Amino acid sequence: LLPFLAIIFSQTTTFALSSVNINSNTNPSRTTMSEIASVLDTDALAVEANSFASANGIQVERKKTEESEDNLFLGAPMSLLPNAYPEQEFKKACDVAPAFNELVERVSQDAEFLQQTLGGGVSTMDPFTAKILKLYHQVYVDDSTANAPAKSADRLGILRSDYMLHSDDDSYQIKQVELNTIASSFAGLSCKIANMHRYLMITTDDEKNDAVFPPATGVPVNPALDELPLAMKVAYDRYVERFTKSKNDNDNPPIVLFVVQDGETNTVDQRLLEFALWETHKIPVVRRSLTRLNSELSVDETTGALKLLKQEVAVVYFRAGYAPTDYGDGEDGIEWNARLTLEASRATKCPCLGYHLAGTKKVQQELARPGVLERFFPEKDETNKVAAMRTCFAGLYSCGDDATPEDLEAIRDVLDGGEAKYVLKPQREGGGYNFYGEELAQKLRSNIERTGDSLELSEDLAEFILMQRLFPPEQNAVLMRGGKVEGTGDSISELGSFGTLVVGSDGKVVHNRYAGFLLRTKFSGVDEGGVASGFATLSSPYLC
Ligand code: ADP
Ligand code: MG
Ligand code: MG
Repeated sequence: LLPFLAIIFSQTTTFALSSVNINSNTNPSRTTMSEIASVLDTDALAVEANSFASANGIQVERKKTEESEDNLFLGAPMSLLPNAYPEQEFKKACDVAPAFNELVERVSQDAEFLQQTLGGGVSTMDPFTAKILKLYHQVYVDDSTANAPAKSADRLGILRSDYMLHSDDDSYQIKQVELNTIASSFAGLSCKIANMHRYLMITTDDEKNDAVFPPATGVPVNPALDELPLAMKVAYDRYVERFTKSKNDNDNPPIVLFVVQDGETNTVDQRLLEFALWETHKIPVVRRSLTRLNSELSVDETTGALKLLKQEVAVVYFRAGYAPTDYGDGEDGIEWNARLTLEASRATKCPCLGYHLAGTKKVQQELARPGVLERFFPEKDETNKVAAMRTCFAGLYSCGDDATPEDLEAIRDVLDGGEAKYVLKPQREGGGYNFYGEELAQKLRSNIERTGDSLELSEDLAEFILMQRLFPPEQNAVLMRGGKVEGTGDSISELGSFGTLVVGSDGKVVHNRYAGFLLRTKFSGVDEGGVASGFATLSSPYLC
């Protein structure tokens, strides 16, 4: 094992980087990692990491403040070294990605299932999900001819299924935390982080001095920065082929529209995709917020073509629109109007409303019920896919009026003091909304009437799902934020597996692939996740 790895894999609780014994039999003519390694300590490695990060754009934008309107870029939150990860489970997460892609497509087309699952208590208690569901009906279910363009549009999915390792017996297996279907982020930065970790792991074995920089095999190559732009290109080319004959109109080609948040800090991650689209595929991107879009968009009444001022939009890629705060002007405001205009056009949406709804936590809980996956994969030759997805499901329970005896048993377990075994989640995205521990128990107790064994759940709970809490293995980590070492300690990780999907309006799947990975690492004592929300850091798996 390489010296760094010995530390990663060590079970000791103190992180002993500085005590590593490096073979310092270096060739003095070279300014290499060996020299640095000979004085190796956390600080020296952090300097290396920062330099690599700066040179390669592993950065986030600083929030503009009242004092300063300047744009400034900071080192992204990152883990100094990769984390050991079981290869077999990593591979599982890659292999099952296309099945989850297809699942999202099929769920998105089942209006009855979506209405049943999200229409009742969830919609009553969560106006945001209710609004997305309402627009979905308006655009895809209602029989108006005005909806023809949207119904004729292709669909693009860029998904990220997130997993934690969990052990119910003696072996760790991946369990799905959630399936993101909108604004699945960090494809760009996670590729750069994998490169950085591969660089920092280079051997210092100078006996074979020609190979001072051999690539380590442990951190897998991350194809996300190729695969996401590729899926966008497939969607773009199909649009051009289907709808515009002027592919060679170099003056005014159709664009890909990135819908982004005002004040977004994770812009480098987004722009890496934009620059890759341009460099590799010569496809132009325009970035706009929903607020600004409203006055700049129009849809051609006869063709359904979406125009941003004079430019035709082929593909709409949402990195905003998943949070109520993205619709500042309220229920009938301009942002919702912009969302509807985008959706009602013939442009390919990533995601369309159906994909957005398929990624809600309530749908995740419903899909885990016996027989529901089979509803979407009824064919005999699809049982393998169903089995592969099902093994990833953790315990998921309803807190609504559809709660089954099993759901109520889990709820009773919380009321009886078992709260440490669960997480309570509302229908929100972006991190920071879940209930854990005492707060979770309190939330349930104050909304449940208990008489003997019978429970009466207040409707306030209908928008929540209760989930089995996962306990991934702990490893030592050095976490960095803004270029500084934030601390050293026990950490846990969450693996994300990207999937990309292009589907024709006729339901034909034309592109369905695993599309890269993301590993996020946080200190063990931190309940929530999310890099952008300030809880986790970007890392990489070191397969073993
Ligand atoms: P969001 O859509 O806001 O990212 P998540 O379901 O991913 O919602 O929850 C946010 C974070 O909470 C996760 O990144 C993870 O760190 C933690 N978390 C969520 N579910 C579980 C669980 N079942 N067990 C342990 N931690 C969880
Ligand atoms: Mg999410
Ligand atoms: Mg999440």
